[in-house]
Amino acid sequence: MTDAVVADLRAGLPDDAVLVDPDVVASYARDMAMFAPAGRPSAVVLPRTVAEVQHVVRVAAGHRVPVVPRGAGSGLAGSSNGVDDGITLVLTRMARILEIDPANRLAVVEPGVVNADLRAAVEPHGLFYPPDPSSYDWCTIGGNLSTNAGGLCCVKYGVTTDFVLGLHVVLADGEVLRTGRRTVKGVAGYDLMKLFVGAEGTLGVITQATLALRPLPRPPVTLVAAFGTAAAAGAAVAAVVGAGLVPSLLEIMDQTCIRAVDEWKRMELDRNAAVLLLAQSDSGGETARDEIDRVAELCRRAGAEPVYTTADVEEGRLLLAARRLALPALERLGATLIDDVAVPRSAIADLLAGTAAIARRLDVTIGIVGHAGDGNMHPTVIVDRADAGQQARARAAFDAILDLGLSLGGTITGEHGVGTLKVDWLAREVGPVSLRVHRAIKDALDPDGIFNPGKVFAGLPPDAGTGVHLRSAAVAAGPAPI
Ligand SMILES: Cc1cc2nc3c(=O)[nH]c(=O)nc-3n(C[C@H](O)[C@H](O)[C@H](O)COP(=O)(O)OP(=O)(O)OC[C@H]3O[C@@H](n4cnc5c(N)ncnc54)[C@H](O)[C@@H]3O)c2cc1C
Repeated sequence: MTDAVVADLRAGLPDDAVLVDPDVVASYARDMAMFAPAGRPSAVVLPRTVAEVQHVVRVAAGHRVPVVPRGAGSGLAGSSNGVDDGITLVLTRMARILEIDPANRLAVVEPGVVNADLRAAVEPHGLFYPPDPSSYDWCTIGGNLSTNAGGLCCVKYGVTTDFVLGLHVVLADGEVLRTGRRTVKGVAGYDLMKLFVGAEGTLGVITQATLALRPLPRPPVTLVAAFGTAAAAGAAVAAVVGAGLVPSLLEIMDQTCIRAVDEWKRMELDRNAAVLLLAQSDSGGETARDEIDRVAELCRRAGAEPVYTTADVEEGRLLLAARRLALPALERLGATLIDDVAVPRSAIADLLAGTAAIARRLDVTIGIVGHAGDGNMHPTVIVDRADAGQQARARAAFDAILDLGLSLGGTITGEHGVGTLKVDWLAREVGPVSLRVHRAIKDALDPDGIFNPGKVFAGLPPDAGTGVHLRSAAVAAGPAPI
């Protein structure tokens, strides 16, 4: 990046908003996906206002410099990884909750608000923001919107997109698009708002969101069931879904995860269980009790032993904490390649059995944790950084799991996104027609390709569109060592 770009950035921003120290900038180069390709940004900018975001985008557009929007950097697909010579635009200082409107059950927030802070802020109003990624105590609403994040209670309530009413987005020309509404219903024009949900920062910078809220759920009843085989646990999930039950949470963790968490936190988990299934009902009182009793019965029929249920809220919270700790606990065992396949819920048993077969065939350890009720699993390959042969086998296992997911009628990503990690796989999943439509939308909104190049899908041919296409910049950086 030239000095002229930095000087132009500084001209419209406070001194502390533009960081160029190479060590500091390098600390924003990656998210939490350990082996996703990443480039090296030249500057990090931390705006506080929409006008500052507009200034950054206009400077970037004027100089044809890439801009990578970034929240907390908790992503698991390399979506906010740096781009060589680019600007990483970190939205965490725009973290105000602008409005909580109990009468209309909505909140208006800036993108840097942390998910758990929003949940805590609306709770005294008797309200609830359901999408709850396991990273909810540090990931941001902007990141959640841009990955269309899911979470633990999405099995009942839906994912982030189901709670978005309106967005403000800074477009590639620096103008602010206001799209969406504050009403429950509304069909005026194309649904432009949804284009930006899950776009992984490739179409614009979200600077404000209007989010729908729900009434606060009732205190939960919790179940934990231990299974001797993954197949039995998969059968139980299929039975619960098939019976028409809608628990507010239905999560799974296998023995590798159980032992990793228990080694770390000593939570007295059942280390002998092959798989633990966790379920909750937040329907309240007798209804919740009845719902969980029915889930318990279906688990027993599928072979679970023991099956434990509790209406004690604190005990339920601790069991959920164990589930939320699964990924960080696996990271203590080595480098991790975290997959994110989602399959039809009737195919969960096949996915679990197939993943176990892949682990045996390639002689790698794979821990499985996931949102069983959504059919969204995170088979996580553990890798010894010092063992090159194991690294190669781990990558092969990662790909084999994606292949398996697609063959079961699933998708390569249920919630983490494509990022730099699965660009080739997106093309394979959606096919050439969908890819052409993706590119047309990108070209219409970001003709010079300044936003998050190299993410989600590969660049346009050099002669396409109107401007200088920057989209191949990030992929050029190649994979990082594990
Ligand atoms: C331990 C752990 C558990 C996790 N559990 C879950 C889970 O249960 N469910 C789940 O869905 N994810 C989960 N994740 C992944 C991650 O937390 C989510 O993808 C989250 O939504 C990312 O938010 P972030 O603020 O960290 O965004 P970042 O990682 O910084 O960015 C993510 C994407 O959003 C874009 N972006 C960020 N802000 C903006 C903006 N204002 N405008 C435009 N684009 C923007 C970035 O360019 C990037 O493409 C987990 C991660 C970890 C480490």
